[in-house]
Amino acid sequence: MAGLDRIARTFLLTELLGGLATTLRYMFKPKATLNYPYEKGALSPRFRGEHALRRYPNGEERCIACKLCEAVCPAEAITIEAEPREDGSRRTTRYDIDMTKCIYCGLCEEACPVDAIVEGPNYEFATETREELMYNKDKLLANGDRWEAVLARRIELDAPYR
Ligand code: SF4
Ligand code: SF4
Repeated sequence: MAGLDRIARTFLLTELLGGLATTLRYMFKPKATLNYPYEKGALSPRFRGEHALRRYPNGEERCIACKLCEAVCPAEAITIEAEPREDGSRRTTRYDIDMTKCIYCGLCEEACPVDAIVEGPNYEFATETREELMYNKDKLLANGDRWEAVLARRIELDAPYR
């Protein structure tokens, strides 16, 4: 009986027609895929991407060199050196993140009392060498300058849930 059924299905092309019907049905449905990199999906304000160091609107660095981010980092990816400035404020002289160690847990951002170190929306920072993923303070501040408008908006959107 099973053999007859298989022969009937072969001659009537039911499986082929079923496959074509499925194709036709999905042809007119909204596409589930995106044409990346020309199209990009929406990101949550909590998406944890490339790091950035932020400044205040007057250009002053937010970071006060408290080293909480360095202490909390489970991957020991952050290295900070600091010293007091002439005006008595404490600032970093070195702020490095080894992005090859980072596990994008977001704890550095959570620990920071002044919203200085943040993980931004940028996920397109693949490199050809490991050295390029050793971020220093200049690189992190440049990221902050580049993304500040987006970073401020993300923090504002997330504030009610913190
Ligand atoms: S995201 Fe996590 S692992 Fe990466 S630097 Fe921050 S605390 Fe360390
Ligand atoms: S980034 Fe934030 S947590 Fe890290 S040293 Fe600076 S002020 Fe402290």
